[in-house]
Amino acid sequence: MSKSETVASAPAAPAVEPRPSDFIRDIVTKHVAEVKYPQIHTRFPPEPNGYLHIGHAKSICLNFGIAREFGGICNLRMDDTNPTKEEVEYVDSIIADVKWLISGWADDRLGLKPKGKTPEAPTINDKRDFYLPPVTKAGADVEPFYASDYFDQIYEYAVQVTKKGLAYVDDLSAEDTDKYRGAPDRPGKESPFRTRSVEENLDLFTRMKNGEFPDGARTLRAKIDMASPNIWMRDPVLYRIRHAEHHHTGGKWCIYPMYDFAHCLSDYIEGITHSICTLEFEVHRPLYDWILENLDLPRPLPHQYEFAKLIPSYMIVSKRKLIQLVNDKIVSGWDDPRLPTISGIRRRGVTAEAVRAFAYHIGVTKYISLTDIAVFEHAIREDLNKRALRRLAVLRPIKVVITNYPEGKIEELDAVNNPEDPGAGTRKIPFARELYIDRDDFMETPPPKYFRLRPGGEVRLKYAYIIKCDQVIKDASGKIIELHCTADLESKTGGATAGRKIKGTIHWVSAAHAIDAEVRLYDRLFNAPEPDADGDFKKHLNPHSLEVVTAKCEASLKEAKHELRYQFERLGYFALDKDSTPGKLVFDRTITLKDTWAKESQKM
Ligand code: ATP
Ligand code: MG
Repeated sequence: MSKSETVASAPAAPAVEPRPSDFIRDIVTKHVAEVKYPQIHTRFPPEPNGYLHIGHAKSICLNFGIAREFGGICNLRMDDTNPTKEEVEYVDSIIADVKWLISGWADDRLGLKPKGKTPEAPTINDKRDFYLPPVTKAGADVEPFYASDYFDQIYEYAVQVTKKGLAYVDDLSAEDTDKYRGAPDRPGKESPFRTRSVEENLDLFTRMKNGEFPDGARTLRAKIDMASPNIWMRDPVLYRIRHAEHHHTGGKWCIYPMYDFAHCLSDYIEGITHSICTLEFEVHRPLYDWILENLDLPRPLPHQYEFAKLIPSYMIVSKRKLIQLVNDKIVSGWDDPRLPTISGIRRRGVTAEAVRAFAYHIGVTKYISLTDIAVFEHAIREDLNKRALRRLAVLRPIKVVITNYPEGKIEELDAVNNPEDPGAGTRKIPFARELYIDRDDFMETPPPKYFRLRPGGEVRLKYAYIIKCDQVIKDASGKIIELHCTADLESKTGGATAGRKIKGTIHWVSAAHAIDAEVRLYDRLFNAPEPDADGDFKKHLNPHSLEVVTAKCEASLKEAKHELRYQFERLGYFALDKDSTPGKLVFDRTITLKDTWAKESQKM
């Protein structure tokens, strides 16, 4: 295929809503205008050594967002070059999390490949002047890309650089390799093995591959410049010996390519145009370019762009540290709703739309900064406010008896399902003589400006009557067990005294009709804005990050669905947990209605 044919057959960019603007999109816009590439092609390349987190979500939204906005493709690629830390469980979770996050938004942009097949990339002697790999989009027999699928090709490329005299086999120990590397302000020292002949290098590299040497005995290194001001250019290791099973290639290999060698080549093989990663890789970019340029490959070559990673306050986003929380059983697993993992966030009831809205809102820059977690929480509230069905539930019940309401009488009152969505309609809720209200909504000796229920005081029951507290009933220990109240029976909507001004309105449920549910009240996992600032994040765990209560819920919640979201009025947003069964409902609090932490920090 010639270049002009390829360009002519490239799909036109579909119209999408106005796209955000940032320095990476500016570059892509320019490339699209110049028709620099037949198609924009990005990738999301997680290492399957843990579950994805909110930081990865930012990268997914950026890479898939660009593919979506510019009529391109974004490959999902397992960056699986390290055999010892990676597991199939992580691969599966990554696929599920990415699909969830892009579902209904960019699934048609997801680049996959036919199962078991690998794109055939050009070799060093390829005379084509242009290379465009085949792309398979979603369909029946497809799977993500795996860097480990390219081990044969990457090995061939290593042989080619060696043949060019640009790589050598080194016998220095890992310790000496480090020592010889020098420091940023001090040049390194050349290895005594650097001058080996091409023949000897090829022979030793083949024998490394054949398993003749133990782990750590030898490495293949690029021959660049031991005095380079950039440490990454001081003869970086390209291959090391690891006699270890790999989750994808099994026992086939005992040498494995290093990230820097495998990554640029994987990008090339897949035809990636814009290889977008976080800032810590900026110093690796000269090596990325060096490897590709020295292989004399058909163009175009991918190019790397770096942006500042997401560092949210009150959270830890490092797989290495998240794994400790999981292994130490500080949380219930990778999908514990308090974790910033995508699976934890999803389980907690946050929608993919809210995550994407957040990722778009924070933007993409080159400046490293802390993102206030309140920004994420705001995006969650905005999203849930629009979609959540309003329901009444009482988290810490206290019985209320309406003494002037006839025993056995039940009224069906109208309650609004979602004031933000008139189409959601209304439902009937039963009112009876015995109710539950929340303990927090009653105080025996309240402070000034307390507008909820108090002895002798009045409050409106949402959708129902104004009641007055006449008597507080306590048990032998002095604990309040019941409140006896009288209702103003004319104060319901449409009644003679309905318009009476009452400062407080509280929620309630009918005692006889209410159903029990376990409700898990989550709060921030850490109580310090930068939990790892002092290197000891476990010291800053919030002891109140989970409270479990048995709530009294309005009966309609028996029909609650996993895919729906609920607002328990005045309390927060809730979603069914995966542990919920028809016999035992379990709800997770996704988020409170208001930011209680903002108030706390103002007090300080
Ligand atoms: P961690 O430090 O959590 O282990 P990582 O960078 O090692 O993360 P990878 O699996 O290598 O994790 O990351 C896959 C992609 O996601 C990379 O392109 C990486 O740059 C990006 N990424 C990782 N963390 C963040 C973050 N906090 N914000 C934005 N992008 C991120
Ligand atoms: Mg990494």
